[in-house]
Amino acid sequence: MAISRSVLISGGGIAGLTAALCLSKNGYRVEVFERSETYDNLGAGIQLSANALRILDELDVGRLLRLSSTSPQAIRITSAYTGGKISEVPLGADAIIRFGLPYICIHRADLHQALLTACANDPDIRINMNSVVTDCVSHPNGVSALVLKKSGMRTVRGKLFVSADGIHSKIRKEIFDAPAARHTGFEAWRAMIPAEKAPARFALEFTHLIWGRGKHAVLYPVRNGRYLNVVIVTKSRKKTDEVRKKEDPKHLKFKTFFWNSKFKILLNGASDWSVWPILETPPSKSWHNGPMVMIGDAAHGMEPYAAQGAAMAIEDAKVLADSLAEEKEISKALSNFQKTRSSRVKKIAKLARTNRQLYHMGFPFSTVRNIGMAFMSGKSLLERQAWIYDWRAKR
Ligand SMILES: Cc1cc2nc3c(=O)[nH]c(=O)nc-3n(C[C@H](O)[C@H](O)[C@H](O)COP(=O)(O)OP(=O)(O)OC[C@H]3O[C@@H](n4cnc5c(N)ncnc54)[C@H](O)[C@@H]3O)c2cc1C
Repeated sequence: MAISRSVLISGGGIAGLTAALCLSKNGYRVEVFERSETYDNLGAGIQLSANALRILDELDVGRLLRLSSTSPQAIRITSAYTGGKISEVPLGADAIIRFGLPYICIHRADLHQALLTACANDPDIRINMNSVVTDCVSHPNGVSALVLKKSGMRTVRGKLFVSADGIHSKIRKEIFDAPAARHTGFEAWRAMIPAEKAPARFALEFTHLIWGRGKHAVLYPVRNGRYLNVVIVTKSRKKTDEVRKKEDPKHLKFKTFFWNSKFKILLNGASDWSVWPILETPPSKSWHNGPMVMIGDAAHGMEPYAAQGAAMAIEDAKVLADSLAEEKEISKALSNFQKTRSSRVKKIAKLARTNRQLYHMGFPFSTVRNIGMAFMSGKSLLERQAWIYDWRAKR
């Protein structure tokens, strides 16, 4: 590979694969190194709003996503205890009319498959699975990264190094002197419920946001409506960084004991629960160091309550490629990249934190909240999201 236009990416997640596509479109040759052997730990859903979908459409990935995603009519907010509706944020046709694109819900494996297919069709992108990037150094000719494979260690060289290795990134500290991710004290219980196991009157055409004291749930259909993706966020008993697979649901049953029976019946339809710690990365001063840069969760892992972490990773990928196209001096381009991104990402992370506080209110604050929400029209609730969903890259 010619070094002068070559980029090395650590991590083949949403940020890494989107960055590979954006950079290749701008004339770079890209090598992606992904630690996993296969993408098998992706049994969960993801919601994508117009700001992310606009970029994926430009990359010809959106077309593939439409094949398996669903587009909910609205976000229906209900009380966990009474089961009654608190409010509704219109999506469906309203989102398309307002933002030009739908709001979609998709299984993560389908999103990854769509990104991988687009990468596989691009002769300038090479993806190496089972390859762990253990270090990277810069020098006058660019960067050299150390990659550990089953066959042994090898050194790869390029002009630019992108750390897209997620919230657990081990190299953030060494390369960018960035602090390690921290546990927020919450965890997400995740499961898929086959649609036929949902009670007959449970509206599958909505994203459901269920608010309880100190916890909440998000449910939405994926895989053309064949499954309901369920996420329940509660306080953590154990502050471990590991994902716990096949967790015994008895603790969850205890936590949701006072929930309305219609939700409890629904949750009984899930067989396998996994528990994901909710982590965040403390802000780091610089996302770049010479010709090396962090994007996505590695740079700014945030709480997931604005449903925008992946969208921010996708926006990062686009802005990074555009910054490099506009400014030939790499370190200056990376500095422009961070300047363009940091205030938006900070604002979204702050919103996510505020959302958690809003969702988890207990009595009497929850009553005041619910009355306030009832006075807001659906249109105004959707309009409050406009600064997020209507974002467009400059180029
Ligand atoms: C419960 C929950 C719900 C969420 N819901 C939404 C949502 O609805 N919408 C939304 O936009 N976001 C959502 N998010 C956030 C979203 O999942 C993340 O922001 C997104 O996955 C970040 O993408 P990434 O590529 O930066 O990191 P990751 O997806 O974590 O990818 C990093 C990749 O790097 C690989 N890797 C790690 N270290 C190395 C190494 N040394 N060498 C090589 N490879 C390495 C990993 O194996 C992984 O494949 C949610 C998060 C959670 C926890």
